[in-house]
Amino acid sequence: MIHIKTFTFNPFQENTYLLYDDTKEAVLIDPGCYEKYEREELSSFVAKEGLKLKFLLNTHCHIDHVLGNQWAKNTFQIPLIMHEADLPVLASIPSYASNYGFQQYEASQPDRFVDEGDVISFGESRLSIRFVPGHAPGHIVFISEADGFCIAGDTLFSGSIGRTDLPGGDHETLLSAIQEKLYTLADDMVVYPGHGPSTTIGKEKSTNPFVRG
Ligand SMILES: [Zn+2]
Repeated sequence: MIHIKTFTFNPFQENTYLLYDDTKEAVLIDPGCYEKYEREELSSFVAKEGLKLKFLLNTHCHIDHVLGNQWAKNTFQIPLIMHEADLPVLASIPSYASNYGFQQYEASQPDRFVDEGDVISFGESRLSIRFVPGHAPGHIVFISEADGFCIAGDTLFSGSIGRTDLPGGDHETLLSAIQEKLYTLADDMVVYPGHGPSTTIGKEKSTNPFVRG
């Protein structure tokens, strides 16, 4: 069974997820930790639980989701895995990071690309990948069929959806991707978004004002 530890980091209130199972192997998704105290909160949890991190995963590469990428790669010696279509998003960050007040932003490079249908394995657990573009061109989500949850990044939120006015965003693409890739998941599947509280596919299908199932 996968345990989910949620941290909320940086001024964008971004949700960073640490997934681990009883083998203590773990994956870190979208580390938004920037300040020293945020990084210490994450690394002390890893140490306290005795976790062995295996992969660093990005749902997509907006700045608030990747502020801790290079720190995590260095600290835990883990490879960065993402979708290739978000490479320009990642590469553009140094040009604007200081405008958002992140003067200490450290650029990171991916080690491996994944796409829909690929599977990430750690411990006794597996995460399948779906491609859900529109908020970002290379946005992916990570799904545990066995444990009934989806790490959804900035695709679907409780009562909302990701913004599509940033470079590489497209509103119609996001709406159809949510319909085809997320609303086809089980109604009781729990959605853990990149911002705000968790929800379920069924709840969003019946109440989300932006995309009805
Ligand atoms: Zn985003």
